[in-house]
Amino acid sequence: MLWDKIRGQTGAVNYLRQSIRKEKVVSGYLFQGPSGVGKKLAASTFAGALNCRVAPGEGCGSCPDCEQIIKGSHPDVHYLTPMSKSRQILKEEIDEMQRIVFLGSYSDNWKVFIIEDADRINIKAQNAFLKTLEEPPEKTILILITDQPGQLLPTIRSRCQKVIFGSWSHELMESFLMEKIVISKTESHVLHSISRGCPGRALQLSQEGILNDRKTLFGPLLDDGGSSARELSAQIKVWLDYISSRSKALSADLEKERVQWREALAPPQRKKLEARDESRVVAEERAELEMIFELILSWIRDLFICRETGGDNYIINRDMSDEIFAASRSRSQAQLCRMMEWVEKSRQLAEKTSARSTRQLIFENMLLQLGYWNLIFPAEK
Ligand SMILES: [Zn+2]
Repeated sequence: MLWDKIRGQTGAVNYLRQSIRKEKVVSGYLFQGPSGVGKKLAASTFAGALNCRVAPGEGCGSCPDCEQIIKGSHPDVHYLTPMSKSRQILKEEIDEMQRIVFLGSYSDNWKVFIIEDADRINIKAQNAFLKTLEEPPEKTILILITDQPGQLLPTIRSRCQKVIFGSWSHELMESFLMEKIVISKTESHVLHSISRGCPGRALQLSQEGILNDRKTLFGPLLDDGGSSARELSAQIKVWLDYISSRSKALSADLEKERVQWREALAPPQRKKLEARDESRVVAEERAELEMIFELILSWIRDLFICRETGGDNYIINRDMSDEIFAASRSRSQAQLCRMMEWVEKSRQLAEKTSARSTRQLIFENMLLQLGYWNLIFPAEK
């Protein structure tokens, strides 16, 4: 059955299953929760459960409808994702979706529209979208997926049935990672924290070698105050290069793919695909920066906990507890609190910023500030 594939989201799954069983399916849903925990999979599963004729309400997973839905090629299940360079869903795209919503259906299927990153529908488009949300045709469902519901207009939120998805627990993450890769308990604990409980992200980070890279990246923080301004700026370069490395690799991969389809497409289609690629690169870079913020915070938090409790029971980077112990002894509580506040503030600022260059500036500024603390307030011996 299709629902069995979704893990760690019992509440959301039960709710959706029940709504089909009790014939209480509504036309607008807002799937909210952290990214990478299964919201999109739940949306397509819901579409499968509604359209499967072999196992109605469940989805058999092997009939033509289920198979097409799993492959993403079902004619009545539509996806919308941010395509423009600004990573926004534009009014033209919403207009086109609305056209399909009101187009008569040839079959008796449920038409399902899955809108990923719905918080990225721009304001003009959100207003246009409201109309569809208010009076969609019968057997039509709109599912908005977001990890930032606050960015949607209240009028849109209030017209949707909210379905909440949560982060995965430590235990679930551990068993998931152990099925996929060779990993210790301590390492899975670290990955759980830096991925904020998102399994897909944790797996990706581990495959990219984050557990080892982390030690290089922690360089400036491991330092207990002896670094010069020159060393500091060299370290900042290491971090910035790290952030751009993955988006550069992705750009190169996409460019390789582009060579294959560029000539075969008409200019407008080509432009559209290129814009979509660019938005993927920007999204990748943003995710990378978020992860780095999380890493830095985890490190300072660990120093604080070690200092205050004298043990490593509650720390995240458990595999580095010796280094953390050594560093924690030479930092005062006040220093660590100030560092944490500064990183947290910078992270929030970077999250709100849409311009890539500004985000980078915020990050650089934060690192400089952290580094200067090391220079100005050398470790207490
Ligand atoms: Zn089926």
